[in-house]
Amino acid sequence: MTGTPSDGFAAPDAHAHGAPCENEDVFRLWNIGDPSCPVPENVFFSAGIHPWDAGKYELAAFAPLFGSPRCLAIGECGLDRTADAALPVQMKLFEAQIAESERRGKPLMIHCVRCFPELLRLKSSRPEDAPVWVIHGFRGTKRKAFDLLDAGCVLSFGAGLLRDAGNMDYFAEIPLDRILVETDESPELFGGILAEAAAMHLLSPSEFAGAVRANFERIFRHELA
Ligand SMILES: [Zn+2]
Repeated sequence: MTGTPSDGFAAPDAHAHGAPCENEDVFRLWNIGDPSCPVPENVFFSAGIHPWDAGKYELAAFAPLFGSPRCLAIGECGLDRTADAALPVQMKLFEAQIAESERRGKPLMIHCVRCFPELLRLKSSRPEDAPVWVIHGFRGTKRKAFDLLDAGCVLSFGAGLLRDAGNMDYFAEIPLDRILVETDESPELFGGILAEAAAMHLLSPSEFAGAVRANFERIFRHELA
């Protein structure tokens, strides 16, 4: 299972790390966290400063990337209690990227570790028609998932779904139109993640992939080929 168009369940990968590849079977939204990283012509990406990199780059250096029509989201950015930078420093950087997202009308790709109360507080301060907040690599309790969904967020699931399937049995209850799938650091797992997610939702891989594809197109305002 590879998740390629030829096997009938093409779905986009909402968040991928690594050297962006052109001409892959899977459409991936590559994460660009270094403003000097060369981005090949044909790839689509998210761009922003990860909380682990707070203080490493100037946000202004990302302006050309943010302005590109191939930049579909701002991030990954967010808050992380395990990062070196103090939380107020991370908060300032995250707020600057929220402002970029709203100014440019592009969704946010969010990394959040042990800062969900802070994240929800920030979210509640934003206008209802602000761009979508995608919580990437979501793992956690049903309560946490539904607090985020109730706040209007979309959840992107990756390898955690395979590792934690046992304690994410609520996955089937997550509305199908609020789900994305991603590989993050593990591109080879895409087919497995899709198959597991589809099975948990009691759908065929192609039905599930179709829903994820429609979500991706709506959220990132990008029509897939
Ligand atoms: Zn990531």
